[in-house]
Amino acid sequence: MTRFLSEQFRYLEPYVPGEQPQDKAYVKLNTNESPFGPDPGVLEAVQREAQRLQLYPDPTGKALREALAEYYNVDAENVFVVNGSDEALNYAFMAYCDEILSVTYPDVSYGFYRVFADLYNLPQTVVPLKEDFTIDVDAFCAAKGMVVFANPNAPTGIALPVSEIERILQSDPDRIVLVDEAYVDFGAESCLPLIRKYDNLIVVQTYSKARSMAGARLGFLVADAAIVQELEMLRYCTNPYNINRMTMAAGIAALENDTYYKSNCEVIMKNRETVREQLVQMGCEVFPSSANFLFAKPPAGTGEEWYLALKEKGVLIR
Ligand code: PMP
Repeated sequence: MTRFLSEQFRYLEPYVPGEQPQDKAYVKLNTNESPFGPDPGVLEAVQREAQRLQLYPDPTGKALREALAEYYNVDAENVFVVNGSDEALNYAFMAYCDEILSVTYPDVSYGFYRVFADLYNLPQTVVPLKEDFTIDVDAFCAAKGMVVFANPNAPTGIALPVSEIERILQSDPDRIVLVDEAYVDFGAESCLPLIRKYDNLIVVQTYSKARSMAGARLGFLVADAAIVQELEMLRYCTNPYNINRMTMAAGIAALENDTYYKSNCEVIMKNRETVREQLVQMGCEVFPSSANFLFAKPPAGTGEEWYLALKEKGVLIR
């Protein structure tokens, strides 16, 4: 570490992304990507847009926001588009937390919540999962400041019903509730329609999983128009051209071939259940999953031993 680094960043523990090895082709299960490529319409849109690389992209993201608004039956003013949903989380932590407005999130959950809380030096409350590995809704109802959780949760894959999320929303209308729905398309119920009813709800989604675009880096958030406006203000203070032309065009094109992505999700969910049954037959303890991954405890041996043995066989897990 140089003597130049600001004191506030000296003790940060950054997020550790899953391995992206370049040495050979793996059966890659470690970062929950889609096994399916994007549909041909997306590839055409990317090629078309690449012809205009000399021009900056639209900083308002208008066409993409309108397409998403139509798809999700909200207004374009409710949609905030970002360079991967991690960026949406970043802006929400930046906007709605400080030394007084703390943040509450579950453990185990997505590792980036802790990282953003540390980055902004926030007081944080970590709520352990219940014994059955579900989220402790009562603890979230009692929390102060912003609450953040993934639904379905990662890496457990367990989803909360929307009625439970509504209970958290209603328990304090002055508290922001951020629901990270990265994996919602694999069998959970989305609480996105609730943004019409609750101005304290932020729903974050991504193109990285069900829409086969992890490499493009595209995510979005849906919330009350006033919230989106505040986040836009911060985005214009940070990175107004946050989404490149090709990704923006790809995002619009992907919405036009919904049947392709929906049928891929069906296949993934069916395979997930087959693998789950087989793991159970092998003696693993496996949680019911509403996501595109499984959380399993092997009958013997450590996680690390299984990880290394499977890697040897060309299968990457986390
Ligand atoms: N939320 C959760 C729960 C995730 O697991 C991930 C990535 N694996 C993300 C958000 C971020 O996804 P992305 O930035 O690719 O949209």
